Amino acid sequence: MIQKLRIASLIGIQFLILAHIYIFGDEIIGSLDFQEFFHAFVKYGIINAGAILVILAFVITLIFGRFFCGWACHFGAVQELSWWLLKKMGITPTTLNSSLVTIFPLFILLNFYLAPNLAHALSSPWEGVSISLGMPEIWAFLPGFVIGTLTFLVDGFLIVYFLGRKGFCRFLCPWGAFLKLPNSLAMFKVRNIGGCQNCGNCTSECPIGIDVSYEINNYGKVTNTNCTSCLVCTEGCPSSAISYKWVSPMNENFQLKHYGINRDMFKLSKIADKFQSLHSRDFLFLPLILIFGFAIDGLYGMGHFLSFGIAVIASVQVITLKEKIQHSKVRNLMIGMIFIVIIWHGVIKFSIWQGLEQFEKNKYSSAISHLERAVKMYPKSIGRFHLILGQMYMETGEVEKAMAHAIRAQNINPKHDAPVELLKKINALE
Ligand code: SF4
Ligand code: SF4
Repeated sequence: MIQKLRIASLIGIQFLILAHIYIFGDEIIGSLDFQEFFHAFVKYGIINAGAILVILAFVITLIFGRFFCGWACHFGAVQELSWWLLKKMGITPTTLNSSLVTIFPLFILLNFYLAPNLAHALSSPWEGVSISLGMPEIWAFLPGFVIGTLTFLVDGFLIVYFLGRKGFCRFLCPWGAFLKLPNSLAMFKVRNIGGCQNCGNCTSECPIGIDVSYEINNYGKVTNTNCTSCLVCTEGCPSSAISYKWVSPMNENFQLKHYGINRDMFKLSKIADKFQSLHSRDFLFLPLILIFGFAIDGLYGMGHFLSFGIAVIASVQVITLKEKIQHSKVRNLMIGMIFIVIIWHGVIKFSIWQGLEQFEKNKYSSAISHLERAVKMYPKSIGRFHLILGQMYMETGEVEKAMAHAIRAQNINPKHDAPVELLKKINALE
């Protein structure tokens, strides 16, 4: 019964999102995105609909745990759907465990959302706190159709196939990371009420891959900050040994070791084959995700979720290829191909970054060499880069090259005025 209610809630959320977009629009309530809390509130002191949603989720989590994630997150629902579909197809992906489950979502949260917006607020302090529920509009921070669809495909489906249960929530989600702290303090938790037979059902069925049986038998409760209060474990326990119960914070037994990374988990023989530990390979896993993620982040219009979703999947392939492909030549070829793609895009990103930086400093010779490299290697044509190259060649007196880039910029963005203006200036020189 509880799970039917939860599924109804997850389906209902999808309809509410559609109703917000297509029926109500953003006249009264604008973007309801978690990142609003950082982009609007932390940065400018603006309380908008998204910021209120985050504050509400934070307070609810302090009482009920990450209820929002288990009962109301559209992205969590997509991953549960993905798991269900794979099972229907007879595929049960192995759920991967790694220390990164604890630390990497926190890194995404701090590096991309908290730190830059906090730094902005510190350098340009708020003029006061204001309320603006209709701003920004719904799609302000959301990707377009192609990148949005790819993000759903990679982070909603592929990541479940390659990393197991709720791979995105566990390895990447910064909003889940934001709720980890209140979740560790939550008053309602799944608790051991006695009679556990160590059957392992709760661990097998937990939608987010927590070793429930280990935690309730060793800590007396589920302390894992990824617990989404979905209650699949309590409903499925054949011995009724666990219950979702309230304990006053005054009586709660808080111990730091309950929240640490524990490598003794997932050892119960009945569940061991459903999980794979990557702990011994984390030293390689972490730098690979960072290198792969930063090499492609922002290219082709990709956001952090898509870039790092691809990075996590690619990194897992590299570090587990030995188990999957016995033939060493094929294995090396695949690893080589992944690295060529990543290094190629890393050079593009470096060239764009340096090209724009040198351009800002009026160091045209260096900027031209970096940006020329970028436009030659980047499979996507970017009008802005050709426009900047055209401006720089004009300044350095290389009129033919200036003209070629200005025409290219105009062909890419025929409706923009800037290439037309540049062409007029170049023609005036001749
Ligand atoms: S499902 Fe119940 S009996 Fe089985 S391991 Fe979990 S808590 Fe123990
Ligand atoms: S531990 Fe239980 S309540 Fe928490 S996510 Fe897993 S199944 Fe759901």
